[in-house]
Amino acid sequence: MDFARNVLSENVRVLKSQVTKTAYQGVAIAVTSIVVATLGVCLFQTGGISLDGIIKAQTENYALWVLDSIPFVFGFWGQYSSSMIAYQAGAMIFDQTQELRSRAESMEKQANYSATHDFATDLPNRVLFYDRVEQAILSANNQNKLLSILLVEFANFKEVYDTLGRNSSDLILKQIATRLQNVIMGNDSVARIDGNIFSLLVTGTDDEHAGISLAKSVQVALEPPFKAERLSLSIHINIGIVNFPEHGDDVDTLVQKAGVALFMAAKSYDGYAVYTSSFDDHSPRRLTLMSELRQALEKDQLAVYYQPKIFVKTGQLYGVEALVRWNHPKHGFISPDEFIPMAERTRMIKYLTLWALKQTFKQCAEWHRLGLNLTVSVNLSARDLHDPELPDIVAGVAASYGVNPAWMMLEITESSIMTDPERSLEIIQRLHEMGYKLSIDDFGTGYSSLAYLKKMPLTELKIDKSFVSDVLLSENDAVIVKATINLAHNLGLQVTAEGVESLQALDLLDSYACDLAQGYYFSKPVSLETFHQWMQSDAKQYTKSADSE
Ligand code: C2E
Ligand code: CA
Ligand code: CA
Repeated sequence: MDFARNVLSENVRVLKSQVTKTAYQGVAIAVTSIVVATLGVCLFQTGGISLDGIIKAQTENYALWVLDSIPFVFGFWGQYSSSMIAYQAGAMIFDQTQELRSRAESMEKQANYSATHDFATDLPNRVLFYDRVEQAILSANNQNKLLSILLVEFANFKEVYDTLGRNSSDLILKQIATRLQNVIMGNDSVARIDGNIFSLLVTGTDDEHAGISLAKSVQVALEPPFKAERLSLSIHINIGIVNFPEHGDDVDTLVQKAGVALFMAAKSYDGYAVYTSSFDDHSPRRLTLMSELRQALEKDQLAVYYQPKIFVKTGQLYGVEALVRWNHPKHGFISPDEFIPMAERTRMIKYLTLWALKQTFKQCAEWHRLGLNLTVSVNLSARDLHDPELPDIVAGVAASYGVNPAWMMLEITESSIMTDPERSLEIIQRLHEMGYKLSIDDFGTGYSSLAYLKKMPLTELKIDKSFVSDVLLSENDAVIVKATINLAHNLGLQVTAEGVESLQALDLLDSYACDLAQGYYFSKPVSLETFHQWMQSDAKQYTKSADSE
């Protein structure tokens, strides 16, 4: 404020000196007129210019007396008005600067808010929650206190969503958020860190059972039915609990172990469970593998496999989809279906995506350098789509390998967009403006509304393999596939059918005017070397018809 005041008085000084200058000019003009008028009167009265004549003119001519007073009037009036104008102008500038500054501040606050809060419930999101846990760990360490983290899973969320739709599900999520906020105390916090997972942080306690007490209160609070669209509806919840420092000393480990506890809670009678290491033996392998994924990235245990995408009409090679594989020293090959969902729960997905982007962009640049015009598809996860830094990360990787965005297709799943459509749309729009092709993956399995689909700058729609695999056996699936192809074409999108396993399926897709096909019929996802061999030999068999056309 002092600074602003100093700036104001400096502005006033500058303005005043400018106006004062103008007033001085006025005085100078007035003095000049007096001299000219006096000389004129002298000449008129005495017929010449003399000192006596000038004195006579000045003493006897009343009009000159009036004129003589003008410089003083100018001087005084100039000084007065200069001060007034300068102060008024200064105050106006000051007010406007303040207004602009407060507007900029509120815009910045709004942007920060949406990056750290959940859209549907207004609760802190995963980013802010992790931040709070990190802070709480620091102060608990200093004060020798304990912490507990609770993951509360809304277990029948999918059923509720399927039955009631998005608006009512959001209403219920909001009511859950309110009830959870009423349960916590003091510095403790609630967040929504995943579609159907809330988390609670109990800070700075000495009571090692604080987590269990809170879990019981949460169960009581969420027991009464929720109201949505005049329906009364009960929800089922599971609660996983971890304690700091007993179960880990960083937020990623704690959340990962809370995930294991959550899994056990779902099987328990109580509906909640505190993590113990013996759970690791009973929980799915993927939960314990999480802690090893970070090392796997560093130790080069991950690899990118490639699966070709083929033009249905011509049989020519269109491009490849990059699919990540984990070659674990003990467990052998682990499918991404096992470790990606868990990586999405912790922040590991960010590192995994960055790793996959670097590998595929580098390979894409290499193919284009060799004159192979392949479109390379990469999978992005839901979490990536909610990360405002994603477009900059992608731009950085593309620049470092010299990749033209038009060579790349980014695959995003239907469900990942629908968890937070507004924010996803913003990021998708930016990637589109940068020149990337965008594909909507697993189409048919999510809950996308046509309204959103129409708004999105997509290039491709991929029909989920669950429909394509049975296209020959199930009439229903055949109808869905055909209708989806028509829908996509009407929206101006190209269609890829994934999971094409036979020539018959391919022929049927051809009759539906499907554009691209991908599946075991052409090739499984394979290592880079095997893919190169495939291009040398097998690919020719599909390109034959194109050559002959
Ligand atoms: P997706 O993106 O839907 O990938 C297609 C999956 O279908 C792949 O499974 C592929 O191996 C399998 N597939 C391809 N053709 C056929 C076929 O003809 N029949 C059958 N039955 N299956 C076929 P995969 O490689 O196990 O990947 C599973 C999922 O993991 C992917 O599903 C994708 O969602 C995710 N994923 C893979 N790599 C990445 C990655 O780098 N980042 C992210 N975020 N997710 C990835
Ligand atoms: Ca995909
Ligand atoms: Ca898919």
